[in-house]
Amino acid sequence: MRDPEQLLRRLDEIVDRPIRIMVVCSSHNRAILQYQLREELPKNLELVSGPGCSICVMPTGHVDAFVKVAMQPDVITACCHDLLKLGGSGDISLDSIRAQGMAQVEVITSPHDCLELARREPDKIIVYPAVGFEATAPSVAETILEAACEGIDNFCVIPSIRLLPPTIDSIMRDPDLDIHGLLCSDHVTTISDTEAYKALAKKHNLACCVAGFEKADILRGLISMAMQIRHGASLFDVGSAVIYSSVENSYARQMVSEVFFAVDTAWRGLGTIAESGFVIRDELSLYDATKRFNVRFLEGEEQCACHCDMIISGRGLPPDCPSFGMACTPQNPIGPCMLASEGICASYFRYNMQNGRHVL
Ligand code: SF4
Repeated sequence: MRDPEQLLRRLDEIVDRPIRIMVVCSSHNRAILQYQLREELPKNLELVSGPGCSICVMPTGHVDAFVKVAMQPDVITACCHDLLKLGGSGDISLDSIRAQGMAQVEVITSPHDCLELARREPDKIIVYPAVGFEATAPSVAETILEAACEGIDNFCVIPSIRLLPPTIDSIMRDPDLDIHGLLCSDHVTTISDTEAYKALAKKHNLACCVAGFEKADILRGLISMAMQIRHGASLFDVGSAVIYSSVENSYARQMVSEVFFAVDTAWRGLGTIAESGFVIRDELSLYDATKRFNVRFLEGEEQCACHCDMIISGRGLPPDCPSFGMACTPQNPIGPCMLASEGICASYFRYNMQNGRHVL
C-alpha cells in the first residue's frame, strides 16, 4: 500500500493508545514538516526529534579546535557549508576568521574534494573537519586510505564523527522521556550495525523501523511501529528503506575499522557519551590534524540562551524555546538547530512559521 490517504486511515485504525516516537534523523524531521504530516496523524501519536543532526550536536570545544587549526600557517580548511557559520566560544566561526583574513577556508561537498585540493596546492596543508554520523565515516576513511596509498602528505582530518546508537542508548535511559519507538533513516543500514539498533530496541523495549523519506515510507514506518507496540513486540523493521548489500557494508566497515576506533566523545548539550565518536588510529596519525597541530578538544563556552539540548533529546520541540521565531530565526540564528540547513528549528521555521502558518 503506497497511497498516503489509505495509509493514514490504516494508522488511525491501529493507534489505540498514546504513542511517542523519536524521529532520529534530521532529514526525516524535515520531511515530516514539509509534508505537514503531524497535522494528519492520529491525535495520540506524538513525534519528537532526536539527535540526528551532525551540526546541532557539535560542541563549541570542537568548533574551537577547527578554528585553531584553521589559523595555523599554510593551512586551508576545507569544510561543508553548514559548518562555516557554526560558532565556537565567543561565537567565533570558520566564516568569521575567514572574513577577517585570518584563515583560508574553502567549501567542499565531499571529503574526496580535499585530495584534489591537496594536489593543486602542494605547499599548503588541507585540513578537513570531518563532521557527521557513522554513514559519513566510510567516505572519510576511504579518503585517508587513498591519501596514504598515493603518498599525499599535505592532507589531514579533524576527526569529529559521532555514533548514534550509544547516544540514543544514553537518551533512552531517562524514564521521563517515555519514548515507545524510533524512526530511523536508511543511513543506519550503511555502517552502523543494524544489530546495534536491534539491541537498543530490545534493551529499552522500543519499536524500531528504518524508513525512506517519501510520505508513504514514513507512514508505513509509523504503521509498523504502531503494530509492534500493539503486539508488545520490539522489532527492528527495515521497512521501505534502501538496504545496502552485505558486500558493500562489509567493505565499508573494513575501511572504517582500518582508520578509526571509537572513544568517549562530547556532544553539544548531552555531555560526554561512552564510545560515541571516532578517532584516527595511531598508524595513520599523519592524517590526524589534532596530532599534527597538537590541538585538543577542550570544553568550550556553550550558548546559554539556546535550548538545542532539549530539542535533540526529544524533551521539547522548537516552539518550546522562548527564542524560537523571535530572537532566533534562520537570518539570525542563536543555536545550531536554527543555523544548520537541516536543523530541527530551521525546518520548523521554514515549514511552519513562514507562509503565516501557526506552529504546532
Ligand atoms: S530556536 Fe534557536 S535558541 Fe531556541 S533551541 Fe532552536 S536554535 Fe536554540
